[in-house]
This record gives sequence, C-alpha cells and structure tokens, in this order.
Amino acid sequence: MNTIYDTDVLIIGSEGAGTRAAIAAAKQGASVLIVTKGRIGKSGATLMAAADISVDGASIFDVLGLSVGNSKDSPQIFLEDILRAGKFINNLPLAEKIVEAAPIRVKEMMAWGMKIRGVMQCPGHRYPRGVSTTGREIVRVLNKQLRSVDLTVKEYTFVIDLLTTGNSVIGAIGLDLRTGEFAVFRARAVILATGGGSMLYPIQTGAVELTGDGYAMALRAGARLVDFEMIQFMPLCLIGPLPYRGSYFPFSLVAESVDSLDGWLLNRRGERFMRRWDPELLEKTTRDKLSAAIGYEVKHGRGTPNGGIYLSLAHLPRNILDDFANRTLKLHLKKNWRFEGFDFSFIRDILSRGEALEVGPACHFFVGGIDVDLDCQTSLPGLFAAGEVVGGLHGANRLSGNACMEILVAGEMAGRKAAEYAKQANGSVVDQSQIDEIVTEAQAPLERKGSHTTFMVKKKIQERAWGKVGPIRDGQELEGALASLKELTHEHHQSGLTCKDRVYNPEWIQVLQNRNLLILLEAIIQCALAREESRGVHYRIDWPQQIEKWRCNLVVELTASGLEIYPRNPIE
Ligand SMILES: Cc1cc2nc3c(=O)[nH]c(=O)nc-3n(C[C@H](O)[C@H](O)[C@H](O)COP(=O)(O)OP(=O)(O)OC[C@H]3O[C@@H](n4cnc5c(N)ncnc54)[C@H](O)[C@@H]3O)c2cc1C
Repeated sequence: MNTIYDTDVLIIGSEGAGTRAAIAAAKQGASVLIVTKGRIGKSGATLMAAADISVDGASIFDVLGLSVGNSKDSPQIFLEDILRAGKFINNLPLAEKIVEAAPIRVKEMMAWGMKIRGVMQCPGHRYPRGVSTTGREIVRVLNKQLRSVDLTVKEYTFVIDLLTTGNSVIGAIGLDLRTGEFAVFRARAVILATGGGSMLYPIQTGAVELTGDGYAMALRAGARLVDFEMIQFMPLCLIGPLPYRGSYFPFSLVAESVDSLDGWLLNRRGERFMRRWDPELLEKTTRDKLSAAIGYEVKHGRGTPNGGIYLSLAHLPRNILDDFANRTLKLHLKKNWRFEGFDFSFIRDILSRGEALEVGPACHFFVGGIDVDLDCQTSLPGLFAAGEVVGGLHGANRLSGNACMEILVAGEMAGRKAAEYAKQANGSVVDQSQIDEIVTEAQAPLERKGSHTTFMVKKKIQERAWGKVGPIRDGQELEGALASLKELTHEHHQSGLTCKDRVYNPEWIQVLQNRNLLILLEAIIQCALAREESRGVHYRIDWPQQIEKWRCNLVVELTASGLEIYPRNPIE
C-alpha cells in the first residue's frame, strides 16, 4: 500500500525556483507540499551558484538603491542583450516579463536579508548588471522565508512520474529513498522546479540530483520541450590535475570577463587559437565561442594529455597576478585563494611557476527546456514549471546572471499562478491502474536478472553525450549516435541490480535515472541533428554558419511513435 499525500500545490524541487514558488503559493493560501530528491537547501545547482543575479543598470540605481547602477542602461537595453545572446530565438514576451520583474524580486530578497557583495559586468552584458551574492546566501534567505509560511517538505524522495487524467496533471508518484516505498501525491496543481540535466555529461559543474528528471517526466506526461539542443558549457573548468576535473573556478575572472587578466588559451602546439575564432575579443569572448573553440582543438588532437587546453599567464610578471588576486578577484576569491570554502592555492602555485593550467568545457546549464506560457503554465492544464527546467527566456544562449534572475522571478510567478489555478480546479480521482503501471515499471529492475550494470550504462550514456552532443557536433556523427541508441536502450532494459535492497539503493536510483537520461540524450541528438546550422551554444562542424531559415525554435513532443521534433516561429 503506497502512502498518499493530498495538497493544493505540489512542488517538485526544493531549491531556488522551488522554494520561491512555494513561498508565493503559500502566501495565496494554498496548501503546499515540496518534494525533493535530496535535502532542502542542499540539492541542485542554486547552492553552487557563484552567484550574480541580473538586474538592468537603471533599476540597480532606482529600485535597488545601489550607487553602482547605471542610468544609461534600461530594461529595454537589457532585453536587447538577451535577444542578441539568444540569437533571436528567445520567447520575447516571457523575457520582457522576467526582465521587468527582476528588480522587484531582487529588492525583496534584499529586504529579506540577502547580502550583496557588489555589482559585476559579464560578457554579453553592455552594462554592469550582475548583483553579486552567493548561492548559499540565496538558499539561506529563501529557506528563512520559507519557515514563515505554512507548508510541508518531503525530502529524499525521487519523483518518478506525473499522474494525469485526460491531458491534465493531477499529481505525481515518488520513491521514498529512505524507506524504498512509493508515495502518491495528489494535487490540484503541480510545479516542476527540478533544475537542469547536467549529469548527462561526464564533466559537469552541477549537482548529482540533476539528471533531467523534470524534462523526461514532462515529455512522458505529454508536455512540450523547446530548443533542447541548446546546452551551455562552462568553457574554463579545471580538466587537470585529475582530482579537480570539472571543478568550477572563477576563471571567468581570469580569461573570460571584460575586466579580467589577459590570460591566453594555447593548444598543444602553443598556438593562441582564439585568434581564429574571435580575433577581436580573443579569450574575452562569450562562453559559447570559447567552448566550441576548445572542443574543436581537442577533437582535432591539439588538446592537453587529459583532454583540455592550456590556460597560460606566463607572459605576465608574477606581481601582476598577485595584485590582481588581492584586488580584482575579491568578489569571489579570498586572498589565500580559497573559493567557496575550497583551497585553490595550488592554482596560484602552478601559475606562479610559469606553468599553464589544463582547462576545458564542463556542462553547466540547460538553455532549452519545458515550453511555458506567460503564467509559467505548460501545454498541460495543471502543470507549471519554473527555473532551469524551463526553456524560452535564453533562446540559444544564456548570459551570466540570468538564471538566478529567472529562478526568483519565474519561481514567484509559477507559485502564484499555480495557487490561483488550484483554487478553481476540481480534485480529480487518480486512476489506480496508472499508479500500478508506473510502480511495476520502476520495480522491474529489482526483480530481473540483468546482464549489464546500471553504472556501466550510465557511463556509456555520458560518453555518448560528451562525444556527440558536447560543445561541438557533426551531422554524420549525430546520425551514428542516434542509430546506436537502440543498443544502449536495450542494455538499459537488460541492466540488473547486484543488490536488491529497496532502501537507499544507488543502483536502483541509477537505473531510474538512466531511463530519464536516455530520453534526454535522444531529444538532444534529434534536435542537434535537425538544426542544420550553428547558433548560440549549438555548434555544428558541418554547418558552421548561422542560417536565417533556422531562426526558429525546435519543439519536442513524445508521441506513440517516439520523439517528434518540429520547427516553430519564435514567440514575439
Ligand atoms: C557551479 C554553478 C554556478 C552557477 N553560477 C550562476 C551564477 O552566478 N548566476 C546565474 O544566474 N546562474 C548560475 N548558475 C545557474 C543557476 O545556479 C541554476 O540555473 C539555478 O540555480 C537552477 O535553480 P533551480 O531551482 O531551477 O534548480 P536547482 O537549484 O538545480 O534545484 C533542482 C531541485 O530539483 C530537485 N529534483 C531534481 N529531480 C528531482 C526528482 N526526480 N524528484 C524530486 N526532486 C527532484 C533537486 O533535488 C533540487 O532540489 C550556476 C550553476 C552552477 C552549477
């Protein structure tokens, strides 16, 4: 017998977007239940953010009351920058709404006690707009606020699928990882705030919970995704020394930022290859170009032994490096080279010896995602979505600071609108056969004698993702990758568990996650194959130019015959 929970608004995901939505929904008088795979305030990407939150420069001055604002900037100019970065396939009305509400939401966070460290300017932003704080601070303030409203939180519960009646969403089923039992959540409205899917890739900056479950659940329930080929890679993460592989470090302040040190990226021949990719901005270009350029060098055998590229400051006198770390980097990096509590002084030592660092792209952010309207409602009645799980705002590329802006603004909108929806929704009866079907499929790996291990299947999925839909893509290779998915799916269906325990069984969790990762991989491959051009974060070796006829969104739906991809004009 499964435990049954009843609520007006069910929120899946407990971090930036999820908690902000919960506060808004509870303030509307709705009963709210947050369900999260990890621990509240400790799972997902929000905690890890650096974190800058974008607000247009004029509002930084007028609304936030910070003297570092710039009255030459405006919401309109900010919007233009978002569209330019997104290569004009953004959801314009959604972007307008988010940019407009950003100052109000950030001011509210400041009123709730969020500490600000300053305002920074990142590439692609024509003015300083990054209101700088930390992910820890965002989480701390939201959780403090959460305690002032009445709601329930259920932690360590992996939501497996949504429950539907007709095409409306009326709840979800989760696996309580601590008991191994299933829980049925009956709700009048559901908000997906499950974040991105960076664990699809072997090198990533995100958290272990981020296996893209929200996208997969949404597709299975009948919702649409947009622009799923658009995956952002953080270009300058540590690739070596190996224990630090994938570590996110503020290299944006060494090589990528407008007022950073003049760091050089070199291939194994010592060539400063960015001259070929962006002769004007070189290493200070945007993340998409850096990631594609590095991916290209590595693919053509010009990378470092560990598959990265060299970042060198050897041309600079040592005291410039020290002075810079002491003054300019202080927003993120402490004098003793501690970053987010971790000791990165070995980087200073490597650079001081005149040696180069091995850096390279790591999967950072899912730019595309669930298709929503201006109320954060998906194409399915009763299903809302907010945060990184949503697509549209960023178009083909995201500017720094815009994700934290999105979680606060869209989180609030989704919570408010879901509560309003719940007030007028009739409670629907959940069909027991639907529950039985989901539970039977989820339990199957416990019962079968498998011929493949779940971790090996995960490794193969990640390798395929990195090789075929990483920072650079190629049509022929994409076709091959698509064809080979059949075999990988077969291996997934044959994967068994060496340990049959139901309680916190990592193999069981992995097999359930692999089911979702496989859908993600197929959707990305299909979209990347369909888009025969390069645009934003999507770079095709065989189609290196941006082509006007592709100024459109790619929509993904799951039909009885599989994934269907079709173009749609951008919403203007
Ligand atoms: C290292 C790093 C630095 C960043 N820095 C910045 C920055 O400076 N500025 C900026 O704008 N953006 C930044 N970003 C991006 C930004 O932090 C994220 O996009 C944003 O925080 C996502 O918030 P979210 O609430 O949508 O999802 P997350 O914070 O990722 O939370 C997802 C939640 O969903 C839960 N969940 C997932 N699947 C399930 C499931 N099946 N069942 C139940 N629960 C589930 C997770 O447990 C978690 O609670 C950064 C990202 C990273 C990784």
